[in-house]
Amino acid sequence: MKTIIIILLILVHYPPDQDKYQKERERMVRTQIEYRGIKNQHTLDAMKKVPRHKFVPDNVVDHSYTDRPLPIGYGQTISQPYIVAYMTEAINPKPNQKVLEIGTGSGYQAAVLAEIVSKVYTIEIIKELFGTADKRLKQLGYKNIFCKAADGYYGWEEHAPFDAIVVTAAAEHIPPPLIAQLKDGGKMIIPVGSAFLNQTLILIEKEGREIKTTSLLPVRFVPFTREK
Ligand code: SAH
Repeated sequence: MKTIIIILLILVHYPPDQDKYQKERERMVRTQIEYRGIKNQHTLDAMKKVPRHKFVPDNVVDHSYTDRPLPIGYGQTISQPYIVAYMTEAINPKPNQKVLEIGTGSGYQAAVLAEIVSKVYTIEIIKELFGTADKRLKQLGYKNIFCKAADGYYGWEEHAPFDAIVVTAAAEHIPPPLIAQLKDGGKMIIPVGSAFLNQTLILIEKEGREIKTTSLLPVRFVPFTREK
């Protein structure tokens, strides 16, 4: 009897599903992220913590921790875990920082950033995706993520300047308002290139009046669209 009660107590505390996803997440970080050279400890810890399976539609939940992007509806995707980690590491996030993300999508990248920095502002152009992500992030208890439905090309003026900006849709050029809203010493990471063709992840560092750009990695993102 005593053994049964103990087993029941353990199950209540650690439901099998949660345990299963926790294991999958640890494996994902080890085999897809650390193995490929991501070292930033804040990034690794955040990737181990955020429940990616709660950010994907029910029909693909079994693939939550696989090494690829997944469809989230409206022709959009949640980025591959490695790319999320890569972009997070690239801005070298610190606990006291304020970060702007363009392209909320599922809200996953925003959640990963929010585990590290103090405030995340995120903008999504598709109203339905904004609605689901906003609700999801609130349900998961993120109090330091602020969502807005708008064209992210113009950034979020009233909360600028930002320590870092992460753009998760591929733009044909770097939106000048985003550069303007970056702090001196700030970093921005953005995929640049044509829709569904060759795109490169670019790191932008603002140093006074100088803008330093570094090409980092060939990538494939959904396009950065504009409000009509
Ligand atoms: N960061 C997301 C991945 C999103 S995919 C995640 O973690 O799930 C890119 C998103 O950018 C899409 O949802 C798309 O609708 C959005 N997007 C494209 N152009 C945009 C724009 N101009 N402003 C804001 N969001 C935009």
